[in-house]
Amino acid sequence: MNKNEMMDLFREEYGSVDKEIITFLSPGRVNLIGEHIDYNGGFVFPAALTVGIYGALTLREDNIVRMRSKNVKGEVVINLDKELVYDKQDDWGNYPKGVIKELKDRGHKIGGMDILFYSNLPDGAGLSSSAALEVLMAYIVLYLENPEKCEEIDRVEVSRLCQKVENQFIGVNCGIMDQFAVCLGKKDNAILLDCNSLYYEYAPLKLGNYSLVIMNTNKRRELADSKYNERRGECEKALEIINSNKEEKIPNLCAATVEDINSLITDDAVKRRAMHVVTENERVKQSMESLKMGDIKGFGELMTKSHISLENDYEVTGLHLDTLVHEALKIEGCIGARMTGAGFGGCAIALVDEAKVDEFKEKVSTNYEKVTGIRPLFYTSKLGEGTHRL
Ligand code: ADP
Ligand code: MG
Repeated sequence: MNKNEMMDLFREEYGSVDKEIITFLSPGRVNLIGEHIDYNGGFVFPAALTVGIYGALTLREDNIVRMRSKNVKGEVVINLDKELVYDKQDDWGNYPKGVIKELKDRGHKIGGMDILFYSNLPDGAGLSSSAALEVLMAYIVLYLENPEKCEEIDRVEVSRLCQKVENQFIGVNCGIMDQFAVCLGKKDNAILLDCNSLYYEYAPLKLGNYSLVIMNTNKRRELADSKYNERRGECEKALEIINSNKEEKIPNLCAATVEDINSLITDDAVKRRAMHVVTENERVKQSMESLKMGDIKGFGELMTKSHISLENDYEVTGLHLDTLVHEALKIEGCIGARMTGAGFGGCAIALVDEAKVDEFKEKVSTNYEKVTGIRPLFYTSKLGEGTHRL
């Protein structure tokens, strides 16, 4: 999808207009490694994709924001002169509405517009379509307020604002990684990010002859919320046990050592959860080193180790993700694979020899379907820019 195609989609939807159609792209994201350690003081390693949610708009003279999406039914209309509140009937429209409300409350100028969204990103598959939509709306408003100064938009603050909307307006208890990656993504780079301090640095991801293949289980995430809370509880417990037995307290679970865990925690499940956290944090640091040295194979091996740890110790994978990853690893030319996102369905990623990608997709697809009865979907994406005007 390019700018002109998006403008055509807009005309198809709203009819021909003689006004300027302004277009934007907000990417989805994958987390390359560093799973379930953001809330334990660890580093995550996400990257923005080149697939995402597009937005096209024309300005209106009044204070009405009219929104449609090519992917979802229904028109959502917002009157900027009225109080903006969450409305179940507005469904997906609550994401952009919440963002508009938050920006309005902070004193930003917002005028009427007709917007069309279009996405080539699966929603609800763990590639952060919700964050892409939030950041897109925020960027649109801030861009229109002062197009000449769009380079000066404080992207860290925008990701904070969008996380707040998802937490408070939508009611989803997510960390900041998704909005941060969508907003601060950089072409051909991943972002090493400490979700607590928001310290971050870019890491060039030169994959050489390998492609990053995104594999969708096509199984919607289930249990994700309750298990997420359960895992957070288990990690808190592990930290508590370690700190009540140590003279020198540690600030978070990532600061524990394997020895601490082995000698102090007796409960088997809690021990394995803590072991995942500590080893995963180590794998993120090693990944950064591997990539700096151009050791893609080494990075691939770390990805696979990460999956095994999430499967056996953290137990957040399930049949669909495990089947996809293990079938992927059996194919020649695949040098690493793992689940990405919260788990229990959603997507996995694999590093695959460019020349073998078609064969890879075919074989993995057949073998995955044999086991699960579902056909998976594949996306090939490069690492792209954060939300921007086209
Ligand atoms: P994820 O962020 O992993 O894709 P979420 O459940 O957090 O999954 O967000 C998915 C929701 O985001 C959808 O149910 C829908 O409300 C909204 N959404 C995603 N893509 C679009 C789109 N193209 N148009 C309208 N709404 C969308
Ligand atoms: Mg989401």
